[in-house]
Amino acid sequence: MNRVYNFSSGPAVLPESVLLKAQKEMLDYNESGMSVMEMSHRSKVYDEIIKETERLFRELMNIPSNYKVLFLQGGASTQFAAIPLNLANKSRKIDIIGTGMWTNKAEAEAKIYADVNVVASSADKTFTYIPETKREDFSKDADYLHICWNNTIYGTKYNEIPDVGDTPIVADFSSCILSEEIDVSKFGLIFAGAQKNIGPAGLTVVIVREDLIGKHRDITPTMLRYDIHAKNESLYNTPPTYSIYICKLVLEWLKDLGGVKEIEKINRRKAQAFYDYLDSSKLFKPTVFGRDRSLMNIPFVTGNEEIDKKFVSEATAAGFVNLKGHRSVGGMRASIYNAMPEQGILDLISFMEKFENK
Ligand code: PMP
Repeated sequence: MNRVYNFSSGPAVLPESVLLKAQKEMLDYNESGMSVMEMSHRSKVYDEIIKETERLFRELMNIPSNYKVLFLQGGASTQFAAIPLNLANKSRKIDIIGTGMWTNKAEAEAKIYADVNVVASSADKTFTYIPETKREDFSKDADYLHICWNNTIYGTKYNEIPDVGDTPIVADFSSCILSEEIDVSKFGLIFAGAQKNIGPAGLTVVIVREDLIGKHRDITPTMLRYDIHAKNESLYNTPPTYSIYICKLVLEWLKDLGGVKEIEKINRRKAQAFYDYLDSSKLFKPTVFGRDRSLMNIPFVTGNEEIDKKFVSEATAAGFVNLKGHRSVGGMRASIYNAMPEQGILDLISFMEKFENK
């Protein structure tokens, strides 16, 4: 068996111990005589899995009791419609800060259901920074502010929560959930597709403050209604059962490692090592500078497309895969989620040093 270092932006690397545990339990989960994939979502044994997954989420993220944790399907992209349908219910005005493709997509979808005001944007510099905002910039009567905490494609992240007063903040944490400590109580809603930091594709996690639930628009499809999923504890219909189970294993792995506080330290060390190398390299250049640098997705370029191509191809042959940058940016990108071992970064840096010297 030859495992590679997988720098994919998602679906992405999972902890090896999680995959081995899933393998061990594949044919017979906990003496049930069947795989988790084969179980009824209404069985007692599965109920324990989904309940424990939620309990671990609450513990690891310190989620207050007045928040619901929902396990949904449809990817983060479905939330771009579900959020305005459920939350844009008073003024039907939404504020948004433009930080890249994922806020552009959220904006386009929200416009179908609400008036969208782009408060600030970093489009002027190809989204290489997080725009500064102050309280006066925001609409007084917006139903919520939408932000993307970590911008997977451009490699930026927030370090401070925008000051919007009482307006609920909706934050896309798809590519950074569980990577650093955050105060959930400062957000109205947090959502994330699972396929980067929490498990396989197919599961979307929504953490939503209870008072924001139940005020959906009349036209909201049943499957997009938070009240329906909350009332049914994510079992209104068949949830993505196996993805939830793998998510439970990932959360157990994270807990054993010391939780979010510990993984944040590791993530900071990993990112710092890579940025330090990029800042000192004469060949490879980072595209983001200063404090907005992402801990999870690090884009870089050589400035020469031929050399970029040669690098990606030689890196792949050496077992460092999926380093090609997003098609909209070019160059390279190393996605270094929680499950990417520190050694993977150090080995990649050595490989890049050798390539540079050559
Ligand atoms: N938001 C962010 C920040 C993302 O990185 C992605 C996926 N790359 C999405 C939303 C869309 O997620 P999905 O494919 O689950 O719809």
